[in-house]
Formats: sequence, structure tokens, C-alpha cells
Amino acid sequence: MKEHDIDIAIIGGGASGLAAAVSAAKHSHCRITVFERLPRVGKKLLSTGNGRCNLSNENISPEYYSGDKQFLSFVKDVPDAKELFRGVGLITRMDNEGRIYPHSMAASSVLDALRHKAAACGVEMLCQVMVSDIRKNKDVFIIIANNEHYSAKSVIISSGGRAAPSFGSDGTGYTLAKRFGHTVTELYPALAPIRTDINKVKALKGLRTYAEVSLLINGQPIAKQTGEVQFSDGALSGICIFNLSALAAKNVGKCEISLDIAPSLSDKELTDALFSAAEIRYELPCEELLTGLVHKRIGQQLLKVVGISCSTLCKNISERDIKNVAAIIKDWRFPVTNISDWSLAQSTEGGIPAKEVTPKLMSKKADGLFFCGEILDICGQCGGYNLDWAWKSGYLAGIAAAEYILGGKYD
Ligand SMILES: Cc1cc2nc3c(=O)[nH]c(=O)nc-3n(C[C@H](O)[C@H](O)[C@H](O)COP(=O)(O)OP(=O)(O)OC[C@H]3O[C@@H](n4cnc5c(N)ncnc54)[C@H](O)[C@@H]3O)c2cc1C
Repeated sequence: MKEHDIDIAIIGGGASGLAAAVSAAKHSHCRITVFERLPRVGKKLLSTGNGRCNLSNENISPEYYSGDKQFLSFVKDVPDAKELFRGVGLITRMDNEGRIYPHSMAASSVLDALRHKAAACGVEMLCQVMVSDIRKNKDVFIIIANNEHYSAKSVIISSGGRAAPSFGSDGTGYTLAKRFGHTVTELYPALAPIRTDINKVKALKGLRTYAEVSLLINGQPIAKQTGEVQFSDGALSGICIFNLSALAAKNVGKCEISLDIAPSLSDKELTDALFSAAEIRYELPCEELLTGLVHKRIGQQLLKVVGISCSTLCKNISERDIKNVAAIIKDWRFPVTNISDWSLAQSTEGGIPAKEVTPKLMSKKADGLFFCGEILDICGQCGGYNLDWAWKSGYLAGIAAAEYILGGKYD
């Protein structure tokens, strides 16, 4: 046994683990050790928000989350992310869509601010230390990492979910939790590209279009998003697609994506515009019919889908053809064949359910064991919602673990 005399062992030095370390340290004089399997803490954080770290959102509300939304009520009294970051000396700024970033627009500043505060509070960081097991012996937790044994009075598991395993989050945290009798709901990749029939998108690779996107089951919309859709190798991508991906993952094989790529036009306005274009361009090949409405390659693909040759002159296409083109612009279908794998997912749908922890995020199976972050069954949309949860749940678990150490049993 390594004599370490740890009060609070934090398993995972990602967003929520660092937040937990800082909050536990600020609220107590506990001896805190972060165990991180990678050579340094916060590797994933550096990649968030395309390197800018979209750390929260002005509009945090349950509608932007899926999973066990009871978790959100646990953090309702936690200070907001702007205040939490002011506490570690980081100034934030908001863009015109309510997304909150560090003022520097550099993710590294977020990590630096957390690391510096943790160091100033005496938090110990053990990197390249992979926790493979945790046991509880009476009131002491035994942490097994790199074949060493460490003892701690309390443990916070902040090891993330399964998304983006190259950043260290490969799902080992679930195994650690299951050891104490916890369950884990079915896990799905979230915020990931949606895979479709490659033949339907091959010619469109690299293009982007603004669209209203619906996820359909039996032709009926079960969710909608609006934004830019990107066509890639056998997949649809973009923020609006990411936000539908977890729901699509649960319904692979029975759902479709429908794109309305002219959402600002009613069916009638669009059909009238196409009849008028066909008249104005009557001597031109009908690939010119859609000039100005959609990208040329998208137009060519749409004509192909409805069975019109691009070289047919506009004057030779029928009324029915024009109506068919209008119909496909408003409802362009793509089957969901799969979701991209975990390596391209930004978050995890599913996890440990709220009923297995107290409102202070302590395990109901083992006193002194806490959880925070993505390992729990709550998943946000793109826009800073996942990191907001990571900070708030980390803050809460950190304080609760400190209070547990200071005051004995705690719920
Ligand atoms: C590319 C990308 C961009 C993103 N951008 C944003 C964004 O802009 N805004 C937003 O809100 N969300 C974003 N997210 C999601 C967000 O980063 C995560 O939801 C958040 O980091 C989860 O925090 P966490 O602390 O639970 O887990 P993580 O940040 O994944 O941290 C878990 C840590 O635990 C370590 N670990 C795991 N198992 C062990 C073990 N057994 N022993 C020791 N260490 C272990 C891992 O190495 C890792 O460092 C993005 C995700 C990705 C992949």
C-alpha cells in the first residue's frame, strides 16, 4: 500500500474532475489527489469548441438536455459558469448566440486557470496513472492504479463517458462504478455525425447547406433542428445534425433524416418561384432552374433524385417535374444507417441514473463515493451545455466530498 493519506481522490483530470478538485480545495483543507491516466490533465478541454472552449451558455435550461433531467435540479443552486470562472480568475465573453467562451477565445486559458488554482490550493496531480479498480474496506477506499494501492477517505469518479476515447475517456469509469453495484443505462454516441447511404451523399461531399432538419420515424417528425448541414463521406454532419444524433442512435434502421433546404419559403412560394425560373430560363438546361436557390452540385443531385437529366431544357420539363423538384427541396430524405463511432462523438448519451445518487451526487451504494460529469446520465446539446454540466456537477461533488470528510457521513 502506498501511504498517501489522501482525503479526496479524484479519478480523472478532465473538466469535471478539475472543477471538483478546485471546489473541494477552496472549501476545505483536505488533501486532494487527482489521478489522470494521460500524461497531462485536461487534454480534451484543449480541443473543445474548436480550440476556443465553449464553456457554457447564457440559456441553460432542461430543453437543451436529454437523459435523466433530474440531475439538473441537483445543480440549480450552484453558481453559474461565469461566476465559477471568476473565482479562478478567468474572464469570459459571450457571442451573439449566447455561447460563453474565455475572453481570450483560447481553450488553454480555461485549463491554465483551473490548473493554477488547483496548484495554489495544494492539489496533487498524478499523471500517467490509470485507476483500474477501487474497493472499500470499512471507511477507507483502496484505489488500485498502475499496480500500486492508494488509500483515500473519499473518492470522486470524474472519468467521463465513452466519447472521444483518444482523450482518455474510454468508459473505464463505468466499470469502477459497477463494482459498487451501480447500473449504467444503455450508452449511445452523442453529438456525432449521422451515417447514411453513401450513394446519396457521394456527389455532395464537402458541401454545406442551411436547412431545417427533421428526424422522422414512420414519416413523422420526432425532433427538429435548424442550421448548417455538412455533407461528408457517407455521413451528414454539422451542429444541427449532432444535436439529433443521440436520438437517431436509439432508432437506427427505423428513422430517416428529412432536410428542408428552403425553410424560409412556403411550398407555394417555392413552387411559384420554380415555375417563374423555368419560364425565364426556358432556353437553358434545367440545371439552371435552381441557380441562386441552392449550390450547383446540390441542384444537380436534386434533379438526379427526381429523375430529370440536367441537360433537358427548362422549356421541356413538365409541370409535374417542377412540382417534384419543389417537393424534394422541402423534404429531402436520407436513411439513418448508423451513427459515427465513439471516436467522432463529442458526448455520451446514457450513464449512471439520478436515482442511484443523492442530490449532492454521493453514491447511494457507498458512502463517500461521488460522481460528476459525463459519467452520469445527462447529455447536453452543442453550445456549451456539456461543459456547463461538468463544471457545476464537479463543483457540487467537490464541496460535498469536502463536507463528507469534515463532517463524517453526508447526504
Ligand atoms: C472534440 C470535442 C469538442 C467538445 N467541445 C465542447 C464544447 O465546446 N462545449 C461543451 O460544452 N462541450 C464540449 N465537448 C464535450 C465536453 O468536453 C465533455 O462533455 C466534458 O469534457 C466531460 O467532462 P468530464 O470531466 O466528465 O470528462 P472528460 O473531460 O472526458 O475527462 C475525463 C478524464 O478522466 C480520465 N480518465 C478516464 N478514466 C480514467 C482512469 N481509469 N484512471 C485515470 N484517469 C481516467 C481521462 O483521461 C480524462 O482526462 C466536446 C467534446 C469533444 C470530444
